[in-house]
Amino acid sequence: MSERAAPFYCPYCGEEDLRPSEAGHGAWECADCNRAFRLSFLGLLASGIARASASPSHEGGDGGADGS
Ligand SMILES: [Zn+2]
Repeated sequence: MSERAAPFYCPYCGEEDLRPSEAGHGAWECADCNRAFRLSFLGLLASGIARASASPSHEGGDGGADGS
C-alpha cells in the first residue's frame, strides 16, 4: 500500500510549484523557495473524526429555576 500524500501548497511559501524530491518517499521540493521538506503520515487520531457539536452546550430546558 503506497501512501501518497501530495501537498498542494508549499507549507513555507505557499506556492504550488512543488515537485517530488529524490530524497525519498514523501519528500518534496519547492521550486519557488527552494526548500525541501518531507510529509509523513503519523496515523489516525485516536479521537476519531470530531463531529461538530450539533447540540449547543446549554440544554434545551427552558426552566431557568436553579433552586435546589
Ligand atoms: Zn516554497
